[in-house]
Amino acid sequence: MARFPAKTLYARLALGLFLLLVTVGISYSFLSSYTLRHYHASLNQEFNRDLARNLVADRNLVDEGRLDEDALRELFSLYMTINPSIEIYLLDLTGHILAYSADPSKIKRKRVSLAPIHTLLADMEEYPVLGDDPRSHDRRKVFSVTPVPSAETPEGYLYVVLRGEEYDLVETMARSDQFIAMGAWALVISLVLGLVAGLAVFHLLTRRLARLTRRVEAFADSDMTEVPAATAAASPTPARDEIDHLALRFEQMATRIAAQLEQLRDKDAERRQLVARVSHDLRTPLASVQGYIEALELKHDSLSAGERQAFLGVARRESHRLGRLVDELFELAALDARETTPAPEPFVLAELVHDVALKHGPAAARRGVQLVVSGQPPAAMAYGDLAMTERVLDNLIGNAIAFSPEGSRISLVMSGDERFLEVAVQDQGPGIPEQDLPHIFEPFYRGSAGESSGHSGLGLAIAERMMTLQGGSVHAENCPPAGACFTLRLPVAEV
Ligand code: ADP
Repeated sequence: MARFPAKTLYARLALGLFLLLVTVGISYSFLSSYTLRHYHASLNQEFNRDLARNLVADRNLVDEGRLDEDALRELFSLYMTINPSIEIYLLDLTGHILAYSADPSKIKRKRVSLAPIHTLLADMEEYPVLGDDPRSHDRRKVFSVTPVPSAETPEGYLYVVLRGEEYDLVETMARSDQFIAMGAWALVISLVLGLVAGLAVFHLLTRRLARLTRRVEAFADSDMTEVPAATAAASPTPARDEIDHLALRFEQMATRIAAQLEQLRDKDAERRQLVARVSHDLRTPLASVQGYIEALELKHDSLSAGERQAFLGVARRESHRLGRLVDELFELAALDARETTPAPEPFVLAELVHDVALKHGPAAARRGVQLVVSGQPPAAMAYGDLAMTERVLDNLIGNAIAFSPEGSRISLVMSGDERFLEVAVQDQGPGIPEQDLPHIFEPFYRGSAGESSGHSGLGLAIAERMMTLQGGSVHAENCPPAGACFTLRLPVAEV
């Protein structure tokens, strides 16, 4: 899929990084220039702290305890020409400017604030102390100050502003040329280096994301049956970071989706097969009933009373079969939809087994089959739905009778431990062919032996669901020397 470049994560990250670097660069230059100036001012003031006092001493400004005004004027004119980096002011005790060494047109203030003067004279160790610059209404500068004519009898102050205006000009020019150029170069170089490094890192990171995105898109555009393969670099184990984690999770999710789709397809095929089988199984007895009824109608007069009776008998049996099939289908559907739910309660399993054996005794006897109950179950009660368990036992015993040869024996063997109680229904019939065993509990599976028995093949499917819903189970195997063996199991009731 084509993308507008600015919309890619990489482009956004690159833009973000660029803006970040520019911001950092600009704030860095401002901060460093500020700290540099602060540092220079501190140094300057510390070195020149005694400048005012030394000027008074060196230039003999005080003569016999009084300020020598001629010497002061001389000093002013001298410093205006030879050292424009300082400006000298004579202040009275309230801070008013009495005389100065500068061009009068440039003096903007009549007095300077006394607080910084007192701070500096109080010998504080914290530099810089900024005082008012008489040449500006708001600018403040470092200075040196001394009381005149002496500290003992002060009449005013000699106030020396360090870094005077001319010096400022020179410095500003120098800075604009050199310092700014250097700073700009440093900024540009670090910006470019940072940008290149950042872009390389972003490229590495977003490359993996782009690869993962391509895989997700490929999966979304496919029929979702196969997870797109990852390159070796894209799926490291164990996961290194969030992107690897994401890739891993995507793989797990895609595998699950593929498996579930496969399952859905299988289920769909199963459902179609079921519908086909149901319609087939319903149609056969229905056609038979219809056939006999039509024959009775058409040939009513030509049939003997015995034949008519026989036709009606077949139609009745077939309609019974149809009815049973419909009932079983409903039962299975209700169990699958969880509409029929078990009502579990503790009951004595041995009692149920004896009752069911008694109930099936006559049917077994009619086929010349012996039904015996054996085994010593634990005294514990079983926990399950009594009616459902009886229904399952009916089905298993019914099947066993149907498959038992005359003169054989069906055993109902009870056993158990502290967790489960079991009843095994063993017959001496043909048993279940090995290839049928895994499918025996599937709906409509009649096995090779039962194909022609006229049974629906739903009984075991219903039995299996009933046992599972109760928290029990049923399983089939062949017991040596011959015969099928179905074992149902129920949990022991907790006391
Ligand atoms: P139905 O409800 O039609 O009796 P079942 O689901 O109970 O069907 O049984 C399905 C198939 O399992 C039977 O058709 C038969 O092939 C096999 N089967 C069940 N019980 C036995 C048994 N005791 N001996 C041999 N085969 C059996």
